[in-house]
Amino acid sequence: MSQYFHSVTLNKEKCKGCTNCIKRCPTEAIRVRNGKAKIIKERCIDCGECIRVCPYHAKKAVTDPFENIYNYKYKVALPAPTLYGQFKNVWDINLILTGLKHIGFDDVFEVARAAEIVTLATKRIINSKKLQKPIISSACPAVVRLITVRFPNLVKNVIPIQSPMEVAARMVKRNISKKMGYKTEDIGVFFITPCAAKVTSSQIPIGLDTSLVDGVISMKEVYLKLVPILDKIDHVENLSCAGMIGISWANSGGESTALENEQNIAVDGIHNVIKVLEELEDEKLSDINFVEALACTGGCVGGPLTVENNFVAKNKITRMAKLISNTAVNDISNTLETVDVSWTNPITYKPILNLDNDMIKAMKKMESLEKIYNDLPGLDCGSCGAPSCRALAEDIVRGFANETDCIFKLREKVRGLAREMMELEGEMPPPFRKNEE
Ligand code: SF4
Ligand code: SF4
Repeated sequence: MSQYFHSVTLNKEKCKGCTNCIKRCPTEAIRVRNGKAKIIKERCIDCGECIRVCPYHAKKAVTDPFENIYNYKYKVALPAPTLYGQFKNVWDINLILTGLKHIGFDDVFEVARAAEIVTLATKRIINSKKLQKPIISSACPAVVRLITVRFPNLVKNVIPIQSPMEVAARMVKRNISKKMGYKTEDIGVFFITPCAAKVTSSQIPIGLDTSLVDGVISMKEVYLKLVPILDKIDHVENLSCAGMIGISWANSGGESTALENEQNIAVDGIHNVIKVLEELEDEKLSDINFVEALACTGGCVGGPLTVENNFVAKNKITRMAKLISNTAVNDISNTLETVDVSWTNPITYKPILNLDNDMIKAMKKMESLEKIYNDLPGLDCGSCGAPSCRALAEDIVRGFANETDCIFKLREKVRGLAREMMELEGEMPPPFRKNEE
């Protein structure tokens, strides 16, 4: 696997070069050149914002094909709790889980259950007072990647715990091979995802060398397979094992509320997350204990691979969670003793404005970047195909763009050329001068 993998990709055929996406990208990862968008792989955090704003559906999240489940002897579905909020008239979680077995899986394990284990592990870390406050949740991979590329001072605040998806995969591989005797490589574990960032995180895991998730399937695709069969299921199996706390993780606020501390906050939507992270970096929120930060509006229910309106899904999840009793604390605690949920590799800052590996050359390039930037109009109009004048100056220094990509600079140049031509014309012998015809 290369250093960069991205689920979010561009369909060049569909792209009209309208520049709608360049302004909304939180890491300035998109440029429009020669009439087509281009994603800069070092900068993209797979937040999915460009998928939402593209009016021509030119951006999409690439997931694993459903047929990949058949590459394994024993196939296990890991549904994110967001799935439960997608169906209009279905209130029975066991019906949805049984449906997953009817469409091809041999077994299911709720990621909501793993979320409860992560909640308990988080409480223990907060109480141990070993981590710098405010502690930031590591549940949303897009937010963790955002911190590693834009907020170097906050890297140490991110809680070093695996995501519920990874914890679920570990538990399934271990339990199934123990109970049923399958080799771990014969057990296929497939996460049903509401977002692109989870696909990327299964390929390039956060805090781990390798992911135990064998594939990530789009929630939309699974929804379309489930809808025609759910009302035909005669026997609903009792497969659900998660309580109210785990299911509530689908909504923004679910994780932080479960930690039962009044000094916790929940923020959702990538641009709101950026505002809060900026305030954290400026030490303006020092009285906060824990920050749940989710890239999608409303939390995972707002993921680009969901079907239902995120507000409707949020309401539904809240009501469904109320119908379920909580998992016994002892039960979660016993499970946590048997599964290691910690990261093995700490995350590090990955600067995206690294102009040159040689320090002296980098400083010179930064000097010329500032000079070019000061010379640009500073309107951040985006018509050059870069999201801001500063981003264009950076592209020029890196050799990816020219000053004349700026329409104002181009106009200045054209006017200068016209002036020069007039002057040259004045120097021509009288019979050739235009105004003496
Ligand atoms: S929003 Fe971006 S990807 Fe979509 S058509 Fe416009 S430039 Fe292309
Ligand atoms: S997925 Fe997010 S970070 Fe990546 S290009 Fe799109 S908007 Fe930018």
